[in-house]
Parts: sequence; C-alpha cells; structure tokens
Amino acid sequence: MTTHTSLLWLPRYLRAMDVHVIELPGWEEAQGQYFWTNLDTGQRGFDGDPTAYMIHHTGSSVARPEVRNSRGKWSKANCWAGLWDGSKLNQSGSGEPTIVFTSAGPARVSSGYGHGPTLLDVADDVRVGWDQPLPDTGIAANRYAWNVEAVAKGDGSPVDPGVEDALIKMGALLASHYGWTPWRAIGHLTWTRRKLDPFWNSQQDRIVHIQDEIEQEMKMIYRDVINVPNTDWARAVVDDGIESGLIVTGDDFVDNWQDEQITMGRLWTLFARQAADLDRP
Ligand SMILES: [Zn+2]
Repeated sequence: MTTHTSLLWLPRYLRAMDVHVIELPGWEEAQGQYFWTNLDTGQRGFDGDPTAYMIHHTGSSVARPEVRNSRGKWSKANCWAGLWDGSKLNQSGSGEPTIVFTSAGPARVSSGYGHGPTLLDVADDVRVGWDQPLPDTGIAANRYAWNVEAVAKGDGSPVDPGVEDALIKMGALLASHYGWTPWRAIGHLTWTRRKLDPFWNSQQDRIVHIQDEIEQEMKMIYRDVINVPNTDWARAVVDDGIESGLIVTGDDFVDNWQDEQITMGRLWTLFARQAADLDRP
C-alpha cells in the first residue's frame, strides 16, 4: 500500500478549527485505483492534489464509515460528515458533529460521471450553476474532487448546523490551502443532472448557501494575513513570531515553513494560535 500525501494535513487543521475529527486506521493508504489529478498543473501521482471539493448526501439517515468493509470493498468517499454517536454517523439526534476520514486518495465511485466542461470551469474558479442541466460526457470526477458524504436522506429534511459548519470549514481550509476560490466547492448536482445532492434544510440549491458561507469563513481565515505584500514580509513576521515565542516550533504542527513556499493557508495555521497578538505592518 502507498500513501496519498496531499491531504494528510487536513484532519489536524480541522481540529485546529474545533471540528471533531476521526481518522480511521489506514485512511492514508491508496485504494490503488487513481491518482489525484490537478487540472491547474497537470500534476498527478501519489503526491498529486485534487482540483475541487464535492459535497454529497448519503440518501440515508445513518452511515457507518469504513476504510474497507468486511467484503474488501473500499470506502466510496474520502470522508463522511454527520452526528457521531460512538459507532456511526446519524443525520439527527444527540451525537457530536464529526468528520470521519476513510480515504486520502481518490475514492472510486463517489463523484461518478458528469459533464466534463463543467469540471474545467470549476478548475478555472468559475462559479458554475448549482444544477447541471447538460448530459454527462463520460468523464468521472473521482480523481479530481475531494469527496465528502454528508449523512442526509436527501428529502429536504434538516441537517445539524454543526455538521454543516464542519463541511464549510473543510471547504474553507481546502480553498485556502490550495489557493482556490470558494466556487470549487460544488454539489453532486453541479456535476451531473442525474443527482440532486446536497439537498437538505428544504433547499435543493443548498450548495449555494454553503459556497457563500465558505467565502465568509475564508475571510475569517485570512483575517490576519490578508494583503500580505510578499512572502519575504511573511517570513519576517514568522521570524519575529518564533523569536518572541508567539510561534512554537518543533511541535506537531506543520511549521517547517523555511523550506517551503508559504501559502495563505499555511501562514494562517502558523498564526492561528496567537493571531490576536501579532501586529500587522
Ligand atoms: Zn453524490
């Protein structure tokens, strides 16, 4: 088994945003079917990046996520969202809003086939329509879209606000990490007219609300690093932070920034712990 490396940061960053996360053992390993394929760069491989974030509903009120089930079948999604009761995810009840990770690499069937030109528009950060009216073109989005299955019957019944908040935070983190606009968060219905997810809270166009909320959440993420003039300035700020003790190095966080280009998302993570104390120039 080989590890897909691109998304391994995500659970830790979600926890930093106070989202309850479960990483099922083995979720980092490849399913052996696909590489992530980045439409911005053409890059693919075990270190490849996804191109979009696709939100689904399960069509059920309960789900029991597994990396691989007893019949050897791999999880069909990268992660699952719902109310965790200790053994499974529910649409309603008293459980804790939770994201359960089951596959770091492309999951095989979740996105399925859809309208190829739409995917290219999404990759260009176009805000495409929430419902895809055109016929499928025989291209599967599995290797392009990070997939979440939100536990919801898909009949318009409500989803817990905490669960939706976790979906929104995940979208904001993905967008800030990879440098996307919020419009790369799409619904399955955006991709193919054969589907209607996500449909909850009486709104078939729920993805529009989710995109708007991701946009707001990204402003929060960028709150203290917006208008960064250049990475030299950012490095100087981080240098000061380390020198003054505001930024702690050598802990479990990804902060070996000195050898890598700083993205907004990474910089935010560095600042998140002490952002209020950092003066901006
Ligand atoms: Zn779906």
